[in-house]
Amino acid sequence: MAEINAWLEEVSSSPYAAQLARGFALLRFEKPLEAEFRQFSQRQNYHLRLWYLYFAIAMWLLFAVADQLWAQSGERWWMLLVRMLSLGILISMVRPLQQLKDERKVDRIVIGLLLVLGGGAAVIVAIGHSADQEYPYEGLLLIIFSIYFLTGLRLGQALSVSLLLVVFYALLDIWAGYPPAVLVQNLLFLMSGNLVGAMGSYLLEYKSREHFLNHHLMRELADHDSLTGLHNRRSFNRKFEKLWRQAQRENSELALLLCDVDHFKAFNDCYGHQAGDIALRKLGQVIGNTARRPLDIAVRMGGEEFAVLLYGMNEAQALTHADAMRTAVLALGIDHARSTTAAVLSISVGLACVSPEVAKPMSMLYERADKALYQAKASGRNRVVQWERRP
Ligand code: GH3
Ligand code: MG
Ligand code: MG
Repeated sequence: MAEINAWLEEVSSSPYAAQLARGFALLRFEKPLEAEFRQFSQRQNYHLRLWYLYFAIAMWLLFAVADQLWAQSGERWWMLLVRMLSLGILISMVRPLQQLKDERKVDRIVIGLLLVLGGGAAVIVAIGHSADQEYPYEGLLLIIFSIYFLTGLRLGQALSVSLLLVVFYALLDIWAGYPPAVLVQNLLFLMSGNLVGAMGSYLLEYKSREHFLNHHLMRELADHDSLTGLHNRRSFNRKFEKLWRQAQRENSELALLLCDVDHFKAFNDCYGHQAGDIALRKLGQVIGNTARRPLDIAVRMGGEEFAVLLYGMNEAQALTHADAMRTAVLALGIDHARSTTAAVLSISVGLACVSPEVAKPMSMLYERADKALYQAKASGRNRVVQWERRP
């Protein structure tokens, strides 16, 4: 196990990797991840639950016919009454489940549906047993299995509902005067069913949690640069498009800072590629700190080029930000003996700012920032240059 998970140490800054490495034998994640997992699995299980409700209604009707064949005449009508009442409640749950906007409420509906289904079945079995000891109770076992395997409930929830069902059935059969020796035998089977169900459900939930962590970790790795931990170009392109549309809707401005390390080839030649990597990682931290607000994004575009997209920031604010970033890079104090610009590693920054109107192409922001960066390089490096419309 330790060997299998050794690679996780390299990505330990990810909460998903950290949780995978820590394990989750008790089927519980650390706090923020637990809520995220519940939401994720509710979304994934939504259709399963809808189909479970249709399936339950169909089976309920099928067993209504079976009652008429198995039960003695006096009990049939009571059974039919319970069947119809429960059926009415089950059918009334279809619309709310289909139209539900808030996935968190699905759990409550599913548990309610199981209480009606299991409770109704237990009442019918007790009615059957009040007249005929041989009346089959095995339908309860089917319901118990379905609770564990078909409802998308977590183990704790499924266990609670199933045990409640067994207790309810036992009380009803005692009330119906069912012989205790046979009741104990039935309960033994039902409890064994619970045990098998709980073990299967544990494995299912464990695998589903593992899938959740792997899925999110893979996404994180696919979207982030492995050296600096910043977003990569692919992730940037996706987010840029989203923020562009959001800025259009909200009538906000977008500022883009394109950054390029000065004389980095010479730095590598002088100090070695590994020192270059360490320097890029430090720069990545400084650049990442510039994009602290939720909608800002810091990117390693490739090589020694970085970008920061600032949401809802005008030119003057963005300029202050960009210059603070440039001076923070100087403050790292990474010696660069071969630089003809400064004694330490420096960056040049091109800045552009637009309000994304419908008519403007998205590429405009990038092209302007790129031109400004070119100007920054041409006019001496270690500076921020803002894109300006030529007269
Ligand atoms: P300028 O001031 O004009 O930007 O000069 P420069 O030397 O920085 O520009 P140039 O584009 O010629 O060189 C970029 C260098 O960045 C070349 C390459 O060796 C280095 N580089 C790119 N990616 C990495 C990386 O991941 N690690 C290291 N150590 N170096 C990298
Ligand atoms: Mg470059
Ligand atoms: Mg460069």
